[in-house]
Amino acid sequence: MKLFNTLTQSLQDFAPIDDTVRVYVCGVTPYDTTHLGHAFTYASFDTLMRYLEYKGHKVRYVQNVTDIDDDIIRKSRELNMTWDELGNREIERFLGDMDALNLRRPAVYARATEEIERIIVLIQTLLERGFAYESEGCVFFDVHKDPEFDIMAQAIGLHSYQAMLTIANEHGNFPNDTRKNDPLDFVLWQAQAPGEPAWESPWGPGRPGWHIECSSMSMHFLGEQIDIHGGGVDLAFPHHACEIAQSEHVSGKAPFVRTWMHVGMVYQDGEKMSKSLGNLTLVRNLLKEYSADAIRILLDSHHYRYPWECFPQDLQNAAETADLFTQVRALVGPTPRGEDQMLRDLFEAAMDNDLNTPEVVLLLKHAAQDALEQKNTNLGAEVLHLTTVLGLRA
Ligand SMILES: [Zn+2]
Repeated sequence: MKLFNTLTQSLQDFAPIDDTVRVYVCGVTPYDTTHLGHAFTYASFDTLMRYLEYKGHKVRYVQNVTDIDDDIIRKSRELNMTWDELGNREIERFLGDMDALNLRRPAVYARATEEIERIIVLIQTLLERGFAYESEGCVFFDVHKDPEFDIMAQAIGLHSYQAMLTIANEHGNFPNDTRKNDPLDFVLWQAQAPGEPAWESPWGPGRPGWHIECSSMSMHFLGEQIDIHGGGVDLAFPHHACEIAQSEHVSGKAPFVRTWMHVGMVYQDGEKMSKSLGNLTLVRNLLKEYSADAIRILLDSHHYRYPWECFPQDLQNAAETADLFTQVRALVGPTPRGEDQMLRDLFEAAMDNDLNTPEVVLLLKHAAQDALEQKNTNLGAEVLHLTTVLGLRA
């Protein structure tokens, strides 16, 4: 199988470190409702896990939840809730939406607030090794101490310090924080602000920065070097660049990750779907009109790496394809599986090509039409078996 590695910008043969494929996917910050962009990211990785298992791999899949951060604190104040009440409520809603779409839960669903002891140890190590500095109760990573800090940025076309800084500022960096030596230095530990939740640390009460959480959990639950680490495309820089810097300077081992995978954005009305723009297509609302299979088919009809826009006609087409598979189920009955080597070869060739799920959806749709026309229960049963790898339940 070939997968596209963001860090090398190339398709590479996928060869896991050993017989268990270790996968870490950056999860949500639970303060708002699941939209189609979230569903696309996590459904893409769910399809990857299912296909790895189909190919005979064992998979260990970890996803984190950033259950403390600026957005949760701000939103909980708006709603007059405590930060953890809001977090717990939104985690349950997110998991409910993902369950409804037939995404399998990760082996570990790791919370930042349960990782703080280990995060502190990592920060201490970075301080001892000279990659970080303490300042007024905060600890920052010193990007100038790491000559390779820009490798992920270079890979995705951010070729200058200013280009990196601009993108970092769009993703929560505070360039004018006077406690930092350089505007691009990022926070590992932030001192408690008045009225905010805090944990004890050698630098005083505070809470971890966002990037260090994922380095800590990835190494804690999967080991110092892993096979696949992924998330939405907007995480490549700065989040994943910071993770590489932290993890490799703590472990002394490179690469931290063999394959970096990033999922494209979903657009609505010509703009990126986002909370701040308010142009969200919520999974919960879609499920009132469309089956989970139809939504999974809509998602699988777009290649995971590319941006796309959700149009009503595409949902309609996906619903019709889902209906075809339902008709095949009625034809086949409960037969466990069929045997059609040609279909399976075509399916695997497309999936081995960087998870070409759009091609697979068309392939299975046409095979379903053939099975129905020919009343071919063997072909139909094979089609249904292969749709389960796409997360369908038909
Ligand atoms: Zn992360």
